[in-house]
Amino acid sequence: MFFEQVAEYYSKLESTSSRLEMIDLLTELFKKAKKGEIKSIIYMTVGSPAPPFQGVDLGVAEKLAEEAIATATGAEKAKVEASFKKTGDLGLTAEQFISGSRLRRMSGDKFEINDVLETMLKIARTGGEGSKDAKIKMLANLLAASRPLEARYIVRFALGQLRLGAGDATILEALSKAATGDREFKPRLEEAYNICSDLGLVGETMMRDGKKGIEEFKVTLFNPIRPALAERLPTAEEILEKMHGRCAVESKYDGLRAQVHVDRKSKRVEIFSRRLERLTEMFPEITAAALKEVNADKAILEGEAIAYDETTNQFRAFQETIQRKRKHGVEEMSTEMPLHLFAFDLLYLDGESYLNKKYSERRKTLESIVKGNGTIRLSDMMLVTKPKEMERYFETAIEDGLEGIVAKDLDAPYIAGARKFSWIKMKRSYKGELSDTVDLVVVGYYRGRGIRTEFGFGGMLAAVYNEKTDMFETITRIGTGFTEENMRALKKLFEKIKTAKRPARVESLIEPDYWIEPKYVVTVRADEITKSPMHTAGRHKEGDEEIGYALRFPRIVSNGIREDKSPEEATTTKEILEMFRQQRKTKVGEEA
Ligand code: ATP
Repeated sequence: MFFEQVAEYYSKLESTSSRLEMIDLLTELFKKAKKGEIKSIIYMTVGSPAPPFQGVDLGVAEKLAEEAIATATGAEKAKVEASFKKTGDLGLTAEQFISGSRLRRMSGDKFEINDVLETMLKIARTGGEGSKDAKIKMLANLLAASRPLEARYIVRFALGQLRLGAGDATILEALSKAATGDREFKPRLEEAYNICSDLGLVGETMMRDGKKGIEEFKVTLFNPIRPALAERLPTAEEILEKMHGRCAVESKYDGLRAQVHVDRKSKRVEIFSRRLERLTEMFPEITAAALKEVNADKAILEGEAIAYDETTNQFRAFQETIQRKRKHGVEEMSTEMPLHLFAFDLLYLDGESYLNKKYSERRKTLESIVKGNGTIRLSDMMLVTKPKEMERYFETAIEDGLEGIVAKDLDAPYIAGARKFSWIKMKRSYKGELSDTVDLVVVGYYRGRGIRTEFGFGGMLAAVYNEKTDMFETITRIGTGFTEENMRALKKLFEKIKTAKRPARVESLIEPDYWIEPKYVVTVRADEITKSPMHTAGRHKEGDEEIGYALRFPRIVSNGIREDKSPEEATTTKEILEMFRQQRKTKVGEEA
């Protein structure tokens, strides 16, 4: 398929404000693709030349792209720069310069979607001395052969700013429709995606091997599995009731989730974060320990990596552990603040998937392959049958400086990529506040007024994620909790992803000063969840009125963006409904 055609679809996708229309456009696009092209089309559409967990970085910054545009069109660099200042979007600048230049592409020069992806991968692989010029040349060659519209998307893609707004669920739905005619097969595609985290591979398998290929999809070492998540309940009684009177409880460590893939024969280890980014080089002590301390040829373990002080036997605070998520100064930091991995699950062992085995069996095997006296420890675990036992365990965990506990259903499989009651968390609660913070997606922001004029930032409009509809629904406006430094930094970040109109996957009755693409997640604490006609979160009919949910007294907790969560990993509408229900119960309990 010629890239020209793909670019035309992107232009249509960009101008729609409806998710359904977006799915129809993607369905059409996928249908037109040949079997060998679907992978490239999917990667391109989600804005990364390979699945994100491979950590492929094109290394193209704005300056480099400006030079490529100048080289391709023969324009002066200063002019390109000046145009960029005006448009704020190098994609548009590229489009303008290509259309203004005398380059005229011969019809035989058309290139295909696979050519674009191949060039992008080549650009990514080019490193070391002289690589900057080589990258400029490759990008410039591609631009010189482009039509204006193609140039727009090539430059945006190279900069990692394609931003078509199509999330994973949207892609999978369109794929189901393109391959089978309706959306019924989407859940199966999702299952395959949950165990390989590679949308391109799922698309390719579907188009090449059909339903059968997807149904036979297997866990593969070094393809991360999308993490299982925990539901929440406020009391030990409720947890035990849900677990039919018997369950395991584990400490909830407040560190960084790490999925560790080990192949001892080839001595290869990969570590993935909760968002499935590669952390391997950042945690050298865990990488080394995985080869020594895991007694298996091949395994996938999951655990929480946390800085732990062996002399005082104390866990360090999350703010300290998070400092280990860095690319520079890794060696010094790993001696200054070494990490331990508290392993809590086993997902694969020596060629066999463990996902469908019961928790009790996974845990038993985990204990047999990890001694737990080195860098890799086992998470603390106890079996309980009485609420009192669970409460005591919880209190000890809090005293030890932990976040709370996670209860686990002994008979449940590992449910990849979903938040289910097979894991239930119970965290410290604060009086007069919601017992848990929520993670919200920023969808818009406000210009600063009054004393905030100088920061250009006065607050934000935030949303929860509705898994069923794949939409972001607003729940609150947040104006407090920011430091001055914060406001400046947030404005700078948000400004870069402003959109001209409401993004297609945002549902809102409120119009902020500026819309932004749903990209950043922030942690918010509030006093209460209330009903509100202003917000779209969980909107439903009550009598004649349409009512949604809102947060009362929301304030930003940590001062920045929660980088370990993608927008689709924010708190969901379903969780808000559940928290609202729990809050009502507690209130009734308090009044009684
Ligand atoms: P939170 O902000 O509460 O950690 P979350 O959305 O990141 O929430 P949840 O699925 O709600 O994640 O809670 C489970 C998280 O707790 C895991 O992602 C993991 O990082 C962490 N964790 C710490 N200790 C354990 C444990 N023993 N078992 C499972 N998860 C644990």
